Amino acid sequence: MSALLSICGLTAGYGGSSALDDVSLSLAAGETVALLGANGAGKSTLLKALLGLVPARGALYFDGADIGGLATEARVRRGIGYVPEGRRVFAGMSVRDNLEVAGLPAARDRAQDVERVFALFPDLALKSRESAWRLSGGQQQMLSLGRALMGRPRLLLLDEPSLGLSPKLADELFAAVRRIAGTGTAVLLAEQSAARALAVAPRAVLLRLGRVVGDGPAATLSDERLRETFFGG
Ligand code: ATP
Repeated sequence: MSALLSICGLTAGYGGSSALDDVSLSLAAGETVALLGANGAGKSTLLKALLGLVPARGALYFDGADIGGLATEARVRRGIGYVPEGRRVFAGMSVRDNLEVAGLPAARDRAQDVERVFALFPDLALKSRESAWRLSGGQQQMLSLGRALMGRPRLLLLDEPSLGLSPKLADELFAAVRRIAGTGTAVLLAEQSAARALAVAPRAVLLRLGRVVGDGPAATLSDERLRETFFGG
């Protein structure tokens, strides 16, 4: 099967220091992959580099096209959705408007997509007219995820979606991620919580100090290997 996303020799840094060093990986259409690594391993930088939010060198192909030179907006339009770390919602806008402004230009498509997000997150449907600032942290995270879905992404990049959520809300969020993955959307899920991510993703890529140190089926990852990734060998 040809890859939906293909990254080859990606290198990125901030000023003089390197945050990603020769990273290569690929994702098939519809595949869910956990991107695991300790704080500072380079997970966020990798997602940002895929979107063109940080400068990077190397080859980036999405759906067969070279996207390395494209602006962020053009990458999003091609089908890459992004949920950054921390909740990015318009606090003063209603839940529905938050979704609408992230939607496709045609009103009919947009209306359909809002309903799809509400079906995925019934709590948001109940609060559709409320201002986003009135939502709980977990609901805001769901709204942030819903906004990314409004662009009908074929690949969804999630940066630490469970950060700051209670265990119960994190479970709900991951259940939603599983449902999204079930609809055929590919997901690259950056997480520090390996156990949760591996419950959703059949495959994991391990990052350590900006390098890929492991890539394979979640079931074959030993605790030892994970410990090394997070705490060093
Ligand atoms: P976290 O879980 O903390 O987000 P991460 O795995 O996502 O960790 P990155 O945020 O990608 O890691 O950070 C990778 C490296 O790049 C770290 O050494 C970090 O200190 C550095 N870094 C990240 N953002 C910046 C920035 N804006 N300016 C300078 N250095 C940065």
